[in-house]
Amino acid sequence: VTPAVGLVLVGAELVEGRTRDGNGAWLARRVTEEGARLAPWTVVPDDEDAIAAAIRAAAATAQLVLVSGGLGPTEDDRTRAGLARAAGVGLVEDPGAWAFVLAVLERRGRSVLPAQRRQALVPEGGRWLANPVGIAPALAVRVGACDVVALPGVPQELEALYESEVLPRVRALPGREATGLEMVLTVGLPETEVARRLGALATSKEPSLGWYPHQGEVEVSVRTHGPDALERARATAQEVRRLVGDAALDAPAGTRTQHAVLGLLRSRGVTLATAESLTGGLVAQMLTQVPGASDVLRAGFVAYHDDAKRRDLGVPAELLERHGALSAEVAVAMAEGARRRAGTDAALATTGVAGPADVRGPAGRVPAGTFFVAAALEGAPTRVVRHDVPLERTVVQRRAALAALDLLRRLLLGLPDGPR
Ligand code: ATP
Ligand code: MG
Repeated sequence: VTPAVGLVLVGAELVEGRTRDGNGAWLARRVTEEGARLAPWTVVPDDEDAIAAAIRAAAATAQLVLVSGGLGPTEDDRTRAGLARAAGVGLVEDPGAWAFVLAVLERRGRSVLPAQRRQALVPEGGRWLANPVGIAPALAVRVGACDVVALPGVPQELEALYESEVLPRVRALPGREATGLEMVLTVGLPETEVARRLGALATSKEPSLGWYPHQGEVEVSVRTHGPDALERARATAQEVRRLVGDAALDAPAGTRTQHAVLGLLRSRGVTLATAESLTGGLVAQMLTQVPGASDVLRAGFVAYHDDAKRRDLGVPAELLERHGALSAEVAVAMAEGARRRAGTDAALATTGVAGPADVRGPAGRVPAGTFFVAAALEGAPTRVVRHDVPLERTVVQRRAALAALDLLRRLLLGLPDGPR
C-alpha cells in the first residue's frame, strides 16, 4: 500500500479562519508529487493538549507526520510542549540548539531575549534540525513507530526545512509509487457535459480523473500511478482533449482562458481592444492580470451608458434607438467601434443584463442574465453570440467575460461559435 503522511497544522488563526492555509497545501502537493499519500489533515489551535492529541492520532496510522507552526519564542508557541507530550517525554534544553539560536541572532545583530531559550528546548530522545533561513530550529521525534517532524510556520522557513530535512525522509518511505498529474482546461461547457464527453474514461480508476469547475471553466485533472506514470498521464490528457473537442484550451497547468487567448493573439501578432458594458471592465482586468498583456492589449473601453457607447465607440444613435443597447446589433457595433477607435487588429465587446432585474428595451423585455458578446477581427466577418445565463449578477458578468474571450479565440482559430 502507498505510505501515508500525516499533517497537523497548528494555529488559532487557521482554526478561526483569519489566516488562509498555505503550508498545508504546499506540503500536501510536495508529498503527493513524491508518490506518498496524505492522510486526512488536522488543524488545531495553539493548545498543548490539542496539539499532542492530534500528533498522537496522526502517528497511530501514518508513517511520517509533519507539523506546521508554533515553534516561535512566544508564550503562544506550544508545539514543542505538545510534541513532547505526544511522545510521552519531557523537554530538555539542548546545548547544540541553543548555540544555533545564539549564532543566528548574532549574525543578524540582534540581542538575545530570555524567551529565546525556549527555542532550544527539545523533547528527550529527539533531535533539533538547523533552520537554514530562520531562528527556530525544527524538531524530529519518534512517537511510537512514527517519525514526527515539526516545522516553523513561516512559509519560507517551512519550505527550506522541507528540502533539507523532510524530502529525504519522504523519499525513504518504502512502497512509494511514481505518480503523474496533467491538467486540461475547458471553457464554455458544464462539468456534467465534460464528463459525458469523456465516457468510460470519466469513471476509470487508473488513470483517475478529477473535475474542478471555476464558474464557466472546468479543469480536468488526470492522475496516474505506477510505472510510466508520467507518459501515461500525458497520453491520457491528449485523449481527454480529443474527447472534449474544441472546448479544450491550449493552456499550461494553472493558467486560464485569458492566458490561452493572450498566447494566441501574441503568436499571431494580433493587437486587441475591449468594449465592455455589463462586464464593467472585467475582461480587461482578466487580461491585464497576466504579465506581458501589454504586448497585445491596447485599450479597454467601459461604455456603460448609451451616451458612452455613442461617444467613445461611435455606436450609431439610430442603432441604439431601434434595437436598444441589449442587442446583437449594438454588440457588433461596439466591437467594430472599439477596433476603429483603438486602431487594433481585433476587438471584443459585451453588452447585456447582469440583473437581478429584467430590463425593458425597444424590442421588449430583456431577461436578467441575457447578454451578447461580439468579436471583430480585421479581414473577417464580425461574430456575435447571445447567451442566457439566469444566475447571480457577478456570475453573469464572469460568464460574459469568458464567453467574449472564447468567441475571440474561436474567431482566431476558425472554430464554430460555440462548443460542438
Ligand atoms: P515564529 O517563529 O514566527 O513564531 P512559528 O513556528 O511559531 O514561527 P507560527 O507562529 O505558527 O509559526 O506562524 C508564524 C507565521 O507563519 C504566521 O504569522 C503566519 O503568517 C504563517 N503561517 C503559519 N501557519 C501557516 C499556514 N498553515 N499557512 C500559511 N501561513 C502560515
Ligand atoms: Mg509563532
